[in-house]
Amino acid sequence: MIAHKTLTEKVYRIRAVWVLSTMLREMPVKSKLGQNFLHDAHAIERIATAVGDLAGRTVVEIGPGRGAITHALVARVKSAGPAGRVVAIELDRELAAALKVDFALEIAAADEGATVEVVEKSILDFDLTAAAEEAGGPLLVVGNLPYYITSDILLHLGKHHRAIERAVLMVQREVADRITASPGGSEYGLLSATVQLYGPVERLFSLPPSAFTPPPQVHSPVFGWKMAPQMEKLGVEEDEFFRFLRKCFAQKRKTLSNNLKAAGYESLQISKALQSAGVVPQARAETLDLNQFAKVSNYLALVNQ
Ligand code: SAM
Repeated sequence: MIAHKTLTEKVYRIRAVWVLSTMLREMPVKSKLGQNFLHDAHAIERIATAVGDLAGRTVVEIGPGRGAITHALVARVKSAGPAGRVVAIELDRELAAALKVDFALEIAAADEGATVEVVEKSILDFDLTAAAEEAGGPLLVVGNLPYYITSDILLHLGKHHRAIERAVLMVQREVADRITASPGGSEYGLLSATVQLYGPVERLFSLPPSAFTPPPQVHSPVFGWKMAPQMEKLGVEEDEFFRFLRKCFAQKRKTLSNNLKAAGYESLQISKALQSAGVVPQARAETLDLNQFAKVSNYLALVNQ
């Protein structure tokens, strides 16, 4: 009986994969949704490995597309034992439908503990905090991000930082350069400070254009982001500090002092605030680290109470 069930499952799987591959071949790539599909098996394995131990974990995949990384994650979740899950969030209706066919058996096994859930939705509308509550612990997040909303996705993950332990993300090279930049470097800016406020980032490896369909122009870096929020250590309130950072970086060509003047702070207060943080009067925001931003912000908040 069991052998018969297994055989039936295999037949369904083969049929589903055949239907799916036909569907996918005929589906045009939607570049407006940032679709660059990974097909290089070695690259896919490297990403799945970088996510780490999946035993009993819930992994949220952003933009699973044709399911290249999803398959590698599901195989790992299954072999790691019970209670692990992959929640795949895909905006493209056709791709989400194809994934539901592809993973029909895993989804149908819901009562025994489904290993896959496909959600047709924008990741920006997906409540990661509720998903972590349902999972009973922090999520692992992975994604080859659609380039047209990379910054919004990073901010969304940051907002839900308490729900996430670690993220492994692939982005365009110029975005990776900004995210991983250090103060003083030409790439350091609002995005670097914002992402790093939520936790350290590390560049893991880069994938060549040949790993994708269609191939992008340049190599695509993959980076790891461990959620270890700095707000408490810096003594700042999250939303207020972001508003302050936006003022500091408002105009790239202006000095920090001039940006703060334009935001309405008084000159004398600004120079004292900079002094309290050991920052020279002509400094640009791009040269300050988070600690210095926090000192300037806290000083100005105190004298403007
Ligand atoms: N993960 C797949 C891979 O590596 O082959 C596809 C990656 S492709 C760069 C980005 C994927 O994100 C596409 O499948 C696209 O349809 C999907 N996508 C675009 N906008 C999205 C959004 N707001 N929320 C969720 N997925 C989105």
